[in-house]
Order: sequence, then structure tokens, then C-alpha cells
Amino acid sequence: MGQDAFDMAIPQHFTSLTGALCSLFGEGTRVESAGRISGGDINEAYGLTLTGGECIFMKSNAKEKLSFFTAEAAGLHAIARTKTIGTPHVLGVGTDEGRGGFSFLLLEFIRGKSHNAGYWKDFAGQLSDLHRASTVGSVPNGKYGYGCDNYIGRRSQVNKGYDSWTGFFRDCRLEPQFRDAAQYFDKEDLKRIVRFLDHIDEILVEPEYPSLLHGDLWAGNVITGNDGRAWLIDPAVYVGHAEADIAMTELFGGFPPAFYDAYQERIPLQPGYERRRDVYNLYHLVNHLNMFGRMYLSEVKRIVGRF
Ligand code: ADP
Repeated sequence: MGQDAFDMAIPQHFTSLTGALCSLFGEGTRVESAGRISGGDINEAYGLTLTGGECIFMKSNAKEKLSFFTAEAAGLHAIARTKTIGTPHVLGVGTDEGRGGFSFLLLEFIRGKSHNAGYWKDFAGQLSDLHRASTVGSVPNGKYGYGCDNYIGRRSQVNKGYDSWTGFFRDCRLEPQFRDAAQYFDKEDLKRIVRFLDHIDEILVEPEYPSLLHGDLWAGNVITGNDGRAWLIDPAVYVGHAEADIAMTELFGGFPPAFYDAYQERIPLQPGYERRRDVYNLYHLVNHLNMFGRMYLSEVKRIVGRF
């Protein structure tokens, strides 16, 4: 499949916030009030009430961080086009010269209700549909990866096309994180890490079919939509093995058993998943080591030491 066939959404790009609001909601539209929303670690988030009464969601960051938002918009679009699970509609991205210059992402505002009955079972069903959706057109030069690089937290995530999942996960996920974290390891650790990476294809397995992954599926990135169902936000999408998404759900606490039971009715986890789970989550743990420092080091060493 050539580059031309790659279906990457290019969000509407604006050169000022006011310009964006006028273009999206009509001439003269302004921000009536802005309420800060907490919960994210990377960007500033706001609920904006507009002069016409509409409410929208905005994330902002320094002007040079615009690529965070174009990548996030592309990821949200990729999930939305599978028509399997809710994600906020992307209104646009842009930069603005005001307040010293900033970049922004405008999204549909999701006003969460309480969970519907069957929330976790439905979420599992929707996620399994996402994982079984066609990935045709998502990876220009291979089966796994993605058509563009994006971000995991505030760090970049490489998404070259690979025909082998294990090769992709070694070269584009674990290896770049370990390379950036080299300062935390002594010579013996580094030898152990190299041996571990060299044998990764004896630990991970090729999936039956490629899946579009959310890529950063922890509880903070699942919000309840206006329909009382699970909606996905803040993705770090790529095409890979579905079990990598399930592994991530278990990293910081996990979801209730009803979720895993219902998911497994649709997509049973293959034998040896628990062992592979720790390898997938190593990617996020070393990323956290790179972003937040040493408190993640002992867990990283413990996992590497087990293999
Ligand atoms: P960051 O990019 O900094 O990690 P998040 O994507 O986690 O930011 O969003 C920050 C906060 O905004 C979270 O509490 C999240 O629940 C909320 N949020 C994210 N997207 C929306 C939306 N479309 N509508 C309403 N709230 C949202």
C-alpha cells in the first residue's frame, strides 16, 4: 500500500483562537468564560463557554507544541472512523500569538453522566470492536506501526511500518526508551537489557491480525460520555497486538473483572499473556522513568531481571 492510500486526517488548522471560533461558530463568536479543567499531566485544559452559548473543550500548550495536538487530532480521527466507540469530535487545531503565543486543540465537550448499567461489559465490547476493525490504510509500509509519529505522554513515539510485531515493538517501542534512559543503568544492567531485547521474539508473539490500538489506555483516558458509555480520549494510536492495550489497562490499577470477562468473551487472551503483559508495560514504565525519574527504576529492573 503506497503513501497515497494512507488515510491520515488533517484537522482544520487555524492561526488564531478567535479566527477558529468565528469560522466554527459564526462571525463575532468569542469566549464568554473559561473554566480550568484538572486531570491532565501535559497540557492546560479548559471548558470554554462561547458567546452563542456553546461549550467546547480546549487544550493548550506552548506554540511550538502544536505537533502534540495535530497528532492527538489524527489519533482521535483514526478511532472515530472505525465507528466502534465514542471519541470527542475534533473541531480544529491551531496557534495564537496572544499570551506570549500558544497552540491549541478544540474538541467537542464531553459532559460525563454516570455510568450506564452494563458500562464495563459494553466498553469491553466496543474496545474489542475497535481491535477487530480494519487497519487497511493505517500503516503505509508494513502491517504494524502507523503512518506518522506521535506522542506517548510528552515524549515522541516512533511509528515506522513493520511486517513483524515483535520487531516493531523492539525497535520502535522498547529500544528508543531504553536508549534515552541509559544514564539510569550500570554496565551489567545494560548488558542484561541488550540480551533481553535480542530475545524479545522468544517472549512476544505475532498477533492473528493487526489491531488499531488506543496506545495509552489507562483509566484517566477513558471518560464517560453524554450517553453514559465509555469514550476514549488522549490516544497514542498505532497498529499492533491488541493485548498491548489490555496490558496497559492493568498497569495503574486495572478495570473491574466485568470488563476483562466481557473482553475475553470476544477476544480471548492467548496463553502466556501475563508474561507478555509485563513486557508491553515496560514500555510505559521506561517512558515514565524518562519523564518523571528514578521512582520507576526498581520496577523496570525487576521486570528486565525476570527475562
Ligand atoms: P493531557 O493531554 O494534559 O494529558 P487530558 O487529555 O488527560 O490532558 O485531559 C485533561 C482533562 O480534561 C482530563 O480530566 C479529562 O477528563 C478532561 N477532558 C479531556 N477531553 C475532554 C473533552 N473532550 N470534554 C471534556 N473533558 C475532557
